[in-house]
Amino acid sequence: MRQKFVAGNWKMNLVYSGALALISEIADLLGPATPTDPVVVVCPPFPFLSGVGEHLPKGGSLHLGAQNCHQKESGAFTGEVAAPMLASVGCEYVILGHSERRQHFREDDALLGQKLKAALAAGLKPIFCVGESLETREADDTFDFISKQLKDGLFHLSNEEFAQVVIAYEPVWAIGTGKTATSAQAQEVHAFIREQVARAYTAAAATDVSILYGGSANAQNARELFSQPDVDGGLIGGASLKAADFVAIVRSF
Ligand code: 13P
Repeated sequence: MRQKFVAGNWKMNLVYSGALALISEIADLLGPATPTDPVVVVCPPFPFLSGVGEHLPKGGSLHLGAQNCHQKESGAFTGEVAAPMLASVGCEYVILGHSERRQHFREDDALLGQKLKAALAAGLKPIFCVGESLETREADDTFDFISKQLKDGLFHLSNEEFAQVVIAYEPVWAIGTGKTATSAQAQEVHAFIREQVARAYTAAAATDVSILYGGSANAQNARELFSQPDVDGGLIGGASLKAADFVAIVRSF
């Protein structure tokens, strides 16, 4: 079901005490859950997941997500973290295909396909990221590029599997740059993504999927972005590290 949705990607920031202080402040500012609340997900670094999870009010609108997972269920992969491990500490979501993983860790569509399967098999809901570079946008190739990322990375899932997925559109040129996409640019790509989902799956799947915008979203521009018909919320980086800003974004629908 399509849901209003805000996820905070804490990336590789904070130490444990800071992570606990941040989640406590977010939970305090959010207060008791109401039926109109969006789904709110925080995605801390691996070592903080359990501790942060313990600070989430039971039965509330706050949920736990991870930033990555390995493609195998278990085994001799020193330093890696498997999807069932994440589920076992209370994670419900996992970000996959983030441009920073694609760029710095060479994650390609084939690998992401395996990671998606591993996450779904563990009962995690993937937040699958797509987005073009500045070079691609300036070459007028945005739509072809996004279409290929979706086709090669995501659309191999079955209807049932796809129903568990949240899509995030994160133009690479907008991430951490302070250069947000305009609401019109975001809406144009979100509508395109929804159309691609309708073609690959069904009209109902396209209506139901939540599509988030990410890239320099903040407390000032969230309302304008979220007011677009095909923008269902945001995947927030920098601004998710300040409780007041993050909660203001959550309140921007
Ligand atoms: P910023 O909000 O810091 O631009 O990061 C966006 C992002 O990459 C979220 O996954």
